[in-house]
Amino acid sequence: MSVPFLDLGAAYHALQTDIDAAVARTLGSGWYIGGPEVASFEQAFAASVDAAHCVGVANGLDALHLALRALGIGPGDEVITASNSYIATLLAISMVGATPVLVEPHERTHNLDPAKIEAAITIRTRALLPTHLYGQPADLNPMLEIAERHGLKLIEDAAQAHGARYKERPVGAYGHVVCWSFYPSKNLGALGDAGAVTTNDAELADRIRTLGNYGSHRRYVNEVRGVNSRLDPVQAAVLGVKLKHLAEWNERRRVTANFYLDALVETNLVLPEVPAWADPCWHLFVVRSPERDRLQAQLAEAGIQTLIHYPIPPHRQQAYADLGYGEGAFPIAERLADEVLSLPIGPHLAREQAELVVEAVRRAAAT
Ligand SMILES: *Cc1c(COP(=O)(O)O)cnc(C)c1O
Repeated sequence: MSVPFLDLGAAYHALQTDIDAAVARTLGSGWYIGGPEVASFEQAFAASVDAAHCVGVANGLDALHLALRALGIGPGDEVITASNSYIATLLAISMVGATPVLVEPHERTHNLDPAKIEAAITIRTRALLPTHLYGQPADLNPMLEIAERHGLKLIEDAAQAHGARYKERPVGAYGHVVCWSFYPSKNLGALGDAGAVTTNDAELADRIRTLGNYGSHRRYVNEVRGVNSRLDPVQAAVLGVKLKHLAEWNERRRVTANFYLDALVETNLVLPEVPAWADPCWHLFVVRSPERDRLQAQLAEAGIQTLIHYPIPPHRQQAYADLGYGEGAFPIAERLADEVLSLPIGPHLAREQAELVVEAVRRAAAT
């Protein structure tokens, strides 16, 4: 038996009857842009994360870039994000012409470290953009305080955080705007590209919707130079079906995560650390080992597929060479990139598969 990193086909087959019916209903409705499927998913998703408004967009990168644009962030502005973020977080900042300013994550939580933010603030700083990496909520309250004190916006990259909770409330409206991706492999995944923003600010939601619709409220009347970034109704219908199962599927991820945490405690791996205030949605289960490459090779030999999130930190990417950060500029991000390994986890990972993972990891750790 081999263990795939994530079985997306299983997620479809588990809900096939409902998904097929939702797709057929949408195709028969005649609404192929916008319409009732989009509106109904937006309402349901907003409610599920305790936010007043949800605006569907084409993908997670657009959610981030439209949120930044709607907040008036552009050329000459700086946005603070974590040095180990996924590249999309930086790309969104670049798309509006602003400059990403990198701050090291906390080594144990992998999330933007509030204690290091203030040293990076300049007169050009306009926003903080933490990512809830791996589905572990970032420490939002200190960031909200810093944002308040310095007149900054707090924008959350929640692309990995569907269903994650911070201090009893779901991630979804702590910051000024929260950005979501429904890329197929996310905890709430479409059957293609899709994304959304959530916010309690009605005016901001309206600005984002307008920007994503050619800058237009009324057909053929263009107030600003917008883009075309809308949530596809077929994807909205699929997401509506899957949203009903998100809590249950996240619970299954939690069971696997707790099993790994217990079973691997005796190994020499650094295991994920969950702060008392955090209720992660376990998008990824990321361990650390100084011998990561050997561990990954041995697991592959045992038929276990693992991935690395992410092997090259943004400041070491050729795409960001012009930021001028050399090797060693962000030692924590670089060390994490060298040592992290994501073990298989997902709602359809069987207990026997998780046991195989544990056995193989223990064997590799013993050699
Ligand atoms: C997936 C992801 C994105 C981008 O989402 P897309 O829908 O692929 O554009 C952005 N940020 C993070 C942290 C992600 O994991």
